[in-house]
Amino acid sequence: MELGIEGKIGVITAASKGLGKAAAESLAKEGVKLAICSRNESRIKQTAKEISEKYKTKVLPLVCDVRSKDDIEKLKEDVIKEFGTVHILFTNAGGPPSGKALDFTPEDYEEAIKLNLLSTINLIYAFLPHMREQKWGRIIASTSISVKQPIPTIALSNVSRVGIIAFIKSLIQEISRDNITANIVAPGYIMTDRVMELLKDREKKEGKSFDELLKELAKNTPLNRIGKPEEFGALVAFLSSELAGYINGETILIDGGMYKGLF
Ligand code: NAD
Repeated sequence: MELGIEGKIGVITAASKGLGKAAAESLAKEGVKLAICSRNESRIKQTAKEISEKYKTKVLPLVCDVRSKDDIEKLKEDVIKEFGTVHILFTNAGGPPSGKALDFTPEDYEEAIKLNLLSTINLIYAFLPHMREQKWGRIIASTSISVKQPIPTIALSNVSRVGIIAFIKSLIQEISRDNITANIVAPGYIMTDRVMELLKDREKKEGKSFDELLKELAKNTPLNRIGKPEEFGALVAFLSSELAGYINGETILIDGGMYKGLF
């Protein structure tokens, strides 16, 4: 399948590992030139080197904490200085701490909203003008299955991500005439460091072994397995493509069938 995005410019946040890195790899494979960021300079440089050598495409490593508006402004300046524009924006951030609803203070909720919801809005505000100017853009906001089916043990995540859907649904009413689409991806369990950390956390709290918990997690899906990062990356690449031009404002689950609702 010809995705038609070779030579386009993509920005991927929180990309030194996990889902962000998987999205970056899938786009690099299609010949997209990338700017990738995370908070740690040496780690993001290492990831950029790895991806650019593997896929023979330009990958610019940048340092950005997506909670900081100043960092996002600097990220935009560096991307525009290097590439002149941006076509594809994949918004992603770290996950807030796990725990049940009343395990946290109201301030913890504020922090989580800053990390997940406000970072997404700030990133879109930063890069959207360039997409509008060139009349082509793809925005993909990463969230979680928790936006459709809240998970009691990750209350901060449940709360801090759902507003992203409302924002994107509102946004497309204003930007789509400029040939820009915006969609949301909502992963179930994809095997990354984040999932390993959540399991290790539960290992201590629940007194079960890591393998036991992993099997339990897999059983939540009809496929009886956890997703692979490259399966997630492939979805992001397709949504970024020319061919996906009529998919707009959708929340697309990638969860192996874990979500139990009808719609
Ligand atoms: P991960 O821990 O493997 O990777 C997280 C990446 O985000 C790293 O590169 C890290 O450096 C970067 N990062 C963290 N905080 C940042 C910040 N403030 N600014 C910039 N970069 C930052 O995690 P992952 O599994 O790739 O998860 C990514 C996001 O997706 C998280 O929010 C996570 O909660 C969510 N999520 C993951 C899954 C899954 O199954 N992996 C499922 C649903 C939702």
